[in-house]
Amino acid sequence: MTETTHKTPTTHPIRPAAPLAHLDVLISGASVAGPALALWLSRYGARVTVVEKAPALREGGFAVDFRGDVHRTVLRRMGIWDEVHRRQTHMGRQTIVEADDKERVDLPAFLMSGDVEIFRGDLSKILHERTRDRVEYVFGDSIASLTEDSEGVDVTFDHGAPRRFDLVVGADGLHSHTRRLAFGDESRYLRFLGYYVAGFDVPNHLGLDRTARIYSEPGRTVMFSNYDGDPERAGVGLVFRSERLTYDRHDREQQKKILAEKFTGLAWKHAGRAMEGLERAEDLYFDAIAQIHVDRLSQGRVVLLGDAGYGATMGGIGTGTALVCAYVLAGELAASRGDHRVAFPAYEAEIRDYAKGCQKTSGNAGPFLAPPSEKKIRSRDRAYRMLSSRFLAGLFKKLTERAASDLTLKDYAPRPLEDYASLNRQP
Ligand SMILES: Cc1cc2nc3c(=O)[nH]c(=O)nc-3n(C[C@H](O)[C@H](O)[C@H](O)COP(=O)(O)OP(=O)(O)OC[C@H]3O[C@@H](n4cnc5c(N)ncnc54)[C@H](O)[C@@H]3O)c2cc1C
Repeated sequence: MTETTHKTPTTHPIRPAAPLAHLDVLISGASVAGPALALWLSRYGARVTVVEKAPALREGGFAVDFRGDVHRTVLRRMGIWDEVHRRQTHMGRQTIVEADDKERVDLPAFLMSGDVEIFRGDLSKILHERTRDRVEYVFGDSIASLTEDSEGVDVTFDHGAPRRFDLVVGADGLHSHTRRLAFGDESRYLRFLGYYVAGFDVPNHLGLDRTARIYSEPGRTVMFSNYDGDPERAGVGLVFRSERLTYDRHDREQQKKILAEKFTGLAWKHAGRAMEGLERAEDLYFDAIAQIHVDRLSQGRVVLLGDAGYGATMGGIGTGTALVCAYVLAGELAASRGDHRVAFPAYEAEIRDYAKGCQKTSGNAGPFLAPPSEKKIRSRDRAYRMLSSRFLAGLFKKLTERAASDLTLKDYAPRPLEDYASLNRQP
């Protein structure tokens, strides 16, 4: 898809009115979806506040990737294409190994890393850097209550003073707090897919250089990966099949105990290194592999975006989906001049099938990464050896991009890269 670049003129005999200049929007969550929406809304002239529970922008998380035309176009329109490429991981091959570390199958880079891959924390930083001058970020706070009337939403916070907004956006992830307040308990929306995933950093014991090694036994898998060529640091990923577990999401020590139990006695020669790292891990990510399915994405003046509305742990395209949907939500708001009664259903109509299609691909993440039996491990490896062959790799790549590309993007802004906020500031 080609892009038209519009230069911002230096004089404006007739200044275009920013379509959202009258709008005060609160976004909950400053990871990916939240700051991406803030970028667009502020360009359309809205006053945007982002509230984030963490005391500062959250670092960490594994690499996230973008694949196919739609992701590419949105990154370009956001103006972050070059920056994302500058900070990309350049991840190479990922190899499935035997217990004695003998190589069994090489997975092509595009399967796990898409067209361009970046650490989630780096992407979050880029989006924050691009918006912090014109968006108010409030860290270390959380919405306590939402009370809506016909003119707006009264919001109270755990710490800050109460405020009133026109619209509230829940971009606070799979376990969205905004969704709980406006739509009801998570148990109504979270579909558990029978697996758990964990990730943490360790020293680069295996001397990996932008490669990964993956070892599977029935129902459990360990991955060592080095995405950025850092000679000191690697990531460990653990995936295991399980019944639904009861644990405290904020209790890291309890989660470490669960993982230590689930991963005892692995035959891989490097498994011990991973488990040593677990004991010391300060940055443990642990979650069920699950998906969010809501009946509708908005409730009055509150709308869900990203993982909060159609999230899926793992599977590769949640981040791209979040960016695409942020573009659409902001675009529909701008097109309706901020009328949420028009914009929210239009946003939902545009992205519902797309987001569902992207979720579907992630439904296989658990069984792909940790097949439940030796036989299934062998057939996974055979299938991927065949698909990665020189003859089928092109077709295979297309298949991996299909869901992410299955949307015709509208051209919302008459000037996609133009910044209404700065236009309005001109004397
Ligand atoms: C630290 C971290 C590590 C991650 N690691 C991985 C990973 O290794 N693999 C993977 O597949 N996905 C990971 N993810 C999820 C991935 O980022 C998302 O799937 C995707 O980028 C969509 O992003 P999102 O902005 O919708 O949600 P998320 O990235 O989940 O962001 C939600 C944000 O909301 C904030 N938040 C939560 N509750 C509140 C509240 N009450 N008030 C205000 N803010 C709140 C969170 O702190 C977070 O910053 C991780 C997310 C985070 C935050």
